[in-house]
Amino acid sequence: MPGTDLPDVRSATDVPADAPAYDVVVVGFGIAGGCAALESARAGARVLLLERAAVHGGTSALSGGHFYLGGGTAVQVATGHDDPVEEMVRYLTITSKEPEPDKIRAYCEGSVEHFGWLESLGFEFERSYYPEKAVIQPGTEGLMFTGNEKVWPYLDQARPAPRGHKVPVPGDTDGTKMVMDLLRDQVEQAGVEVRYETGASHLVADESGRVVGVEWRSFDTSGVVRASSVVLAAGGFVMNPDMVSAYTPALGSKLFTLGSTYDDGLGIRLGASVGGELKHMDEPFITAPFYPPSVLVKGLVVNKLGQRFVAEDSYHARTSYHVMRQPDAAAYLIVDSAHLEEQRMSLCPLIDGWETVEEMEAGLSLPAGSLVATLARYNDHAARGEDPDFHKHPDWLAPQDQGPWGAYDLTLGNALYAGFTLGGLRVTVDGQVQREDGSVVAGLYAAGACASNLAQDGAGYCSGTQLGEGSFFGRRAGRHAAAVSPGTR
Ligand SMILES: Cc1cc2nc3c(=O)[nH]c(=O)nc-3n(C[C@H](O)[C@H](O)[C@H](O)COP(=O)(O)OP(=O)(O)OC[C@H]3O[C@@H](n4cnc5c(N)ncnc54)[C@H](O)[C@@H]3O)c2cc1C
Repeated sequence: MPGTDLPDVRSATDVPADAPAYDVVVVGFGIAGGCAALESARAGARVLLLERAAVHGGTSALSGGHFYLGGGTAVQVATGHDDPVEEMVRYLTITSKEPEPDKIRAYCEGSVEHFGWLESLGFEFERSYYPEKAVIQPGTEGLMFTGNEKVWPYLDQARPAPRGHKVPVPGDTDGTKMVMDLLRDQVEQAGVEVRYETGASHLVADESGRVVGVEWRSFDTSGVVRASSVVLAAGGFVMNPDMVSAYTPALGSKLFTLGSTYDDGLGIRLGASVGGELKHMDEPFITAPFYPPSVLVKGLVVNKLGQRFVAEDSYHARTSYHVMRQPDAAAYLIVDSAHLEEQRMSLCPLIDGWETVEEMEAGLSLPAGSLVATLARYNDHAARGEDPDFHKHPDWLAPQDQGPWGAYDLTLGNALYAGFTLGGLRVTVDGQVQREDGSVVAGLYAAGACASNLAQDGAGYCSGTQLGEGSFFGRRAGRHAAAVSPGTR
């Protein structure tokens, strides 16, 4: 359902006396909604889970399977990576646009317990480490770096540790489907009533503004249920062009949108319809990784002025974030013949090869002398293992002085950039939806891509925080909602 209109709020006085009543109604069966429903039911609540699609999973089931966890998980310990909670707190704080200390602390302090809870669904993260620079490990290794932890200036501010925990499914898509299937089994066992092909269309509120129910629609049928609490977990809005152009125009052009059909922001609009504030709606995750192979990270990235602008060993979305800020969002990855290797993802096309740097400069229409000077300076410092301009880690420094040279196109419109939204409803650490003045909308919670939690922007984002925070704060929302429901008090 595209558009930016807010659904009407239904009045509690119009709800029929015999409408079914639940302690908690959860809207959406992705990772956030599944975790919220399971924790609510385990706390004794009578739970209804509404899912608009014919199956559980949402975007979560399509995703790669990285969960950002740390503070000493069993995989970190088994692979010899020390990761004190305080370092994780520090890292998430410096990479957040507007850090919310209570949420970051809860997430980091609760991370090891949450790791165990995820595994108790019925799988094990492999106790192994993937050391390469990659978007996602091609095999089943349980751990890798999935952010900018080893990238300047972050590595000087928080001790780096790998925190990207991958579910034991090879490859880069559908990894989380296995987790979603296990979650569905647990949700069913816990006695949650799940209704598929049934979408929440309106919230019901009483005259004090408290949310007391949900109106739903299934094909031509509609109905209403009462609820002591409602948890919105209906995903993001990347599939709603009207919301994208209103809030996140950077996602609007020349981009491939990553999401599922129902990422149309209806959950966010339901929350806004009863006064919920929206946060970080302008923040997208945008990326076109030029690696693997990791050897390409040793090259240098220049803009159309022939100047470097980012440390090339950055997490791919950070590099992309800075490309978007260059003139005409144009950029090229330059590598010499000793480092040229075929990309494994082919998202940034190889433009051509040139015998001399001067020819390459002309071939890329860069200002005369610009690339020659940039490359000479880069090579000179790289030979000494230094990068005074962007502090690229010495592991990724190598002179690019063996002709011929090749250039990959990182320009928006030529490279295949993909993205999704990061903003959503303002919520407390327990998922309670908040108004602009900070007060909570009684009876209403939000979690996952519907909500704004760790609030990383496109430059600070690391893989695994979406599934990580969706499951972690989804659980918290579910427990809190159950605790305040009359049926479970
Ligand atoms: C290709 C890809 C790879 C990714 N890889 C990773 C990764 O490795 N790690 C990571 O952290 N993040 C990753 N992400 C991002 C991550 O998958 C999402 O941010 C996350 O899954 C969102 O979870 P969610 O529970 O909030 O939403 P979803 O999983 O989308 O669930 C929302 C559910 O709500 C349903 N719904 C919508 N509207 C209604 C309604 N009105 N009534 C009832 N139901 C409704 C939808 O049908 C859907 O099932 C990836 C994304 C993509 C696309």
